[in-house]
Amino acid sequence: MQTRGAPKGLFGLWQLCQHQPLSDYQCFTRADFASNPRMVSCLGNGLFMEINQEPLIERVLTAEEQKKLTPDDVLRGLREGNKRFAAGNLTLRDHSKQIRDAVNGQFPKAVILSCIDSRVPVEDVFDKGIGDLFVARVAGNIVNEDILGSMEFSCRVAGAKLVLVIGHEYCGAVKGAIDQVSLGHLTGLLQKIQPAVHACSDYSGVRSAKNPEFVDMVIRKNVELTVQNIRSRSSILHEMEKAGEIKIVGAYYDMDNGEVTFFG
Ligand SMILES: [Zn+2]
Repeated sequence: MQTRGAPKGLFGLWQLCQHQPLSDYQCFTRADFASNPRMVSCLGNGLFMEINQEPLIERVLTAEEQKKLTPDDVLRGLREGNKRFAAGNLTLRDHSKQIRDAVNGQFPKAVILSCIDSRVPVEDVFDKGIGDLFVARVAGNIVNEDILGSMEFSCRVAGAKLVLVIGHEYCGAVKGAIDQVSLGHLTGLLQKIQPAVHACSDYSGVRSAKNPEFVDMVIRKNVELTVQNIRSRSSILHEMEKAGEIKIVGAYYDMDNGEVTFFG
């Protein structure tokens, strides 16, 4: 009998063996799997796993479900999803099925603006899957015309209920802005973070990328200013927020523990 290490959230993965006595591992039959929704067949050829949570999520969000959501519902869903992520308890999803369903259209709950940092996997951070989120990514999570246009499309055209700007701990783009790095097109991008650096000018400590306290202060300020920028530069989004159709919120991702803090 072959066994494999059990990924987090799984009781185990066994090769089904019908002819050998199994003393160390529980043996399941096909009938067991058919009668128990918590047990899901995977990989074919007699390979199965039992999952330690709800059955696989197969469906993508529909237009009707999206319409019923309020901005606060969406925010609550992101908070709860992040708790599952931080606890290492991501929802299992049938991505193949979701890909096929998503062909019919998309009705995401939120548009999220994140840094490009590879250590911030946005959908995973909120335990969301195919069709759940629009995600815009740019170093330092700043806005420009194109990102504002993408957000306006997400909310006004496609029905998203929340704009979330998420900065993150140890942001290299913010460090580059603090140290006034100059490199090709990056120079212009980092200049868009400078207002956050200047806004922290009353900081009395060492104003350097080597000072984590100062870097963190600028990261949080940069998120705050980006949220303000969205409101001041997009009358469409600002009006939608005033009408209660959407919320525009900032957040901070703690890289040490995977937890997101929401501002406001
Ligand atoms: Zn970053």
